[in-house]
Amino acid sequence: MDAKEFREFGKAAVDFVADYLENIRDHEVLPTVEPGYLLDLLPKQMPEEPEPWTEVLSDINRVIKPGITHWQSPNMHGYYPTSTSYPSIVGEMLASGFGIIGFSWICSPACTELEVVVMDWLAKFLKLPEHFQHASDGPGGGVIQGSASEAVLVAVLAAREQAVLSCKETHPELSESEVRGKLIAYSSDQSNSCIEKAGVLAAMPIKLLPADEDLILRGDTLRKAIEEDVAAGLIPVICIATLGTTGTCAYDDIESLADVCQASKVWLHVDAAYAGGGFALEECAELRRGLDRVDSLNFNLHKFMLVNFDCSAMWLRDANKVVDSFNVDRIYLKHKHEGQSQIPDFRHWQIPLGRRFRALKVWITFRTLGAEGLRNHVRKHIALAQQFESFVRNDSRFEMVAPQALGLVCFRPRGDNENTTQLLQRLMERKKIYMVKAEHAGRQFLRFAVCGMDAKPSDIEFAWTEIESQLTAHLAEKSLAEVARKPSNVSDLTQHFQMHLASDGGGTHEKSQ
Ligand code: PLP
Repeated sequence: MDAKEFREFGKAAVDFVADYLENIRDHEVLPTVEPGYLLDLLPKQMPEEPEPWTEVLSDINRVIKPGITHWQSPNMHGYYPTSTSYPSIVGEMLASGFGIIGFSWICSPACTELEVVVMDWLAKFLKLPEHFQHASDGPGGGVIQGSASEAVLVAVLAAREQAVLSCKETHPELSESEVRGKLIAYSSDQSNSCIEKAGVLAAMPIKLLPADEDLILRGDTLRKAIEEDVAAGLIPVICIATLGTTGTCAYDDIESLADVCQASKVWLHVDAAYAGGGFALEECAELRRGLDRVDSLNFNLHKFMLVNFDCSAMWLRDANKVVDSFNVDRIYLKHKHEGQSQIPDFRHWQIPLGRRFRALKVWITFRTLGAEGLRNHVRKHIALAQQFESFVRNDSRFEMVAPQALGLVCFRPRGDNENTTQLLQRLMERKKIYMVKAEHAGRQFLRFAVCGMDAKPSDIEFAWTEIESQLTAHLAEKSLAEVARKPSNVSDLTQHFQMHLASDGGGTHEKSQ
């Protein structure tokens, strides 16, 4: 393909994306395909001869689009949002155009320096403690990782290596392998699966401590666990707290956890993959409590900052701890400017060697939307979640499971778990909206997350109508099934149907006051 053809293909692709996103509501959020559908549609080998791009683009419509789950649809309410925006898409395209892998300053000075700039912009925008900025006097700074999982793993690995180093002084009687065998880490049983996975990858067990009844991990629980483990000869290394747990968007008590970590010389990392977006708002200022005492934290721009996947911001109080832990050199990686304090070689801050020019899409997004645009985006998600919450609270057949937090509402139909399961199954079969279940203390519930590139109040109304009408249908079917199981006599049946019709109100339902 030459530049002329690229111009045509590229412009057609931009039109394709704009049409797709502009008309996203035309698609049901979930595809109808069955597993293996694409394997059956595509040839078993790549084409021997080049094919025209027009055919490829038309195949994207024909075979790829039917297998897409439409994450940018406002009818996506599963997981947490995966954001995107037009400027971010352009940024991604331009970064691919440059085709660099900026693992050190010399590999593309703009890649490193723009990352330093946008990470400091973001730290200020989120009102993080000053010591996390590259421009501060200290050794702190921010880096863009691919995902929260990578950020957590980097923190876990760095904390582990620091612990091994310091054990040389505190436990001189132990060999390094004995030390490694005694290391232990902590998080809450509400933390994301990536935390447990980081422990597996780092070969260091992570104890999932019980969150309290509000699903919050508190210092007392951590203190008790550390005391017991130290008494058993183990060496506590790191606690990974969460601000905005995946299940219910609960916020761990960072201040009390920091007290314990400080006293026990344990690294404190905060996973704010989703809720970090709230740091930007004055009305959510309490979310930032205790952040001045943490060693590292991460926030996914690809969740809440209109930057597309992948883009996970990570800040370190002392970046030297990561650099010292991961610094592996080769002669071909050396350059004459390395080690200069304002110019990090980000390859030491991450797992892979090569790194994408993610800062470009961040910079373009921040500039074209502005700080107020980003704050408005977070505020809009909160307002839409509050709208949904009011629907839940106004229908006595449902109950809230946790307080509405940012763009997430956790709720369930009253009654046993079967109601939740059946309701979700119906919704999934109809494919009009997408939600996922979660569970706490044996109670299953539904998570309604505000997602999509441009959700509106009418989308929330659409989702609610779908949910409540499917509950009506489920309850009617359940009630009929109950009668069918025990039809004692004709008058019982008549009475049952009369009651059902009365309670259903001819398609409406009882509302709480
Ligand atoms: N942490 C939390 C609290 C999350 O909710 C998620 C994903 O939703 C993750 C971590 C994992 O994020 P990533 O896919 O960026 O690794």
